Amino acid sequence: MQDIQRGYKFRCYPTEAQQQQLAQTFGCCRVVYNHFLKLRTDAWYERQERVYYNETAKMLTALKKDPEFVWLNAVSNVCLQQSLRHLDRGFANFFQGLARYPTEKKKHQIQRARYMDNGFSFKDGQLKLAKQSTPLAIRWHRALPETAKITSVTITKDRAERYFVSFQVQENIAPQPVVAKTVGIDLGINAVAVCSDGQTFENKRPYRRSQQRLAKAQRQLSRKVKGSHNRRKARLKVAKLHAKVADQRADFNHKLTAQLIHENQVISAETLAVKNLLQNPKLAQSIADVGWGQIIRQLTYKAAWAGRTFVQIDRWFPSSKRCSTPGCGYTREKLPLHLREWDCPQCGTHHHRDRNAAINIDQEGKAILAGAMQLRIH
Ligand SMILES: [Zn+2]
Repeated sequence: MQDIQRGYKFRCYPTEAQQQQLAQTFGCCRVVYNHFLKLRTDAWYERQERVYYNETAKMLTALKKDPEFVWLNAVSNVCLQQSLRHLDRGFANFFQGLARYPTEKKKHQIQRARYMDNGFSFKDGQLKLAKQSTPLAIRWHRALPETAKITSVTITKDRAERYFVSFQVQENIAPQPVVAKTVGIDLGINAVAVCSDGQTFENKRPYRRSQQRLAKAQRQLSRKVKGSHNRRKARLKVAKLHAKVADQRADFNHKLTAQLIHENQVISAETLAVKNLLQNPKLAQSIADVGWGQIIRQLTYKAAWAGRTFVQIDRWFPSSKRCSTPGCGYTREKLPLHLREWDCPQCGTHHHRDRNAAINIDQEGKAILAGAMQLRIH
């Protein structure tokens, strides 16, 4: 058994009054975030000084007494402090080279407010947020685990104007029983994943249909006059379709990764840096990127929870060009992207391009793992 941090996200439907109160909270969080982003940026560029969370928290207390900012007192202080934490993590990630420099939060972006356990109450399935007098209506599409301890609650409003509540919980889970099978996966565009065991996860048809609708809605939006009411409506329509496509993709990816983790003890894939090097940049990269990143992230945490091993192959090796037949090892010099199948001139095996790559990835993953084990023994 192990303790893990896990998020459970649900759609929620705030009342008119709750929406107004949330709008105020989002607005204050945004102002605080942007105010201290500027302050920290100026301190660095003008005086080479680093300002940290604790100092900004003290300054926030002073700011709330300033007549010009007194309206900040109308919302939960917990949320404002979390906004500073969020900013602090943004800077930490930037200085570690994990993210770009934090940027200003804008009104039309996704809105977010985080409540720590002193900013909400949760009793008998009813969630009441600080500064709100009535519980939030939540659509429980699944139950929260009974033993889970809720550490924080985040409310978001996305660009399609939908509200969500995420419960961050601490949960005690058991690893899945050990299995003998391993798998290599080749991430792609037409097929999201081709596996070394012969399974193929194709892009689903409804997902493609939504994409066509999205393309049409985007064309319509581009024709609307800036600042007009019709443009606002068209933008909301695009946002709603975007949200739908993203939901379908996430849903699909969750099922895919859950199945891979359930069936296999070791799962291997190439890292995205390697993947991108191998792909033609003209392909629908932006669409594919998001999906691949999500799959890799899900495999990483789900493997950790289930007691599985996820191997990321982060160095270049010729996964597509090498013949995967045991004992052959023939490697082609070139393999153009349009060539989906090929015959090995050395052993005569007929290869399906992606499947052959997936088998090589599986073998390479196991070789990396065996090497790591040996290092541990010596
Ligand atoms: Zn061969």
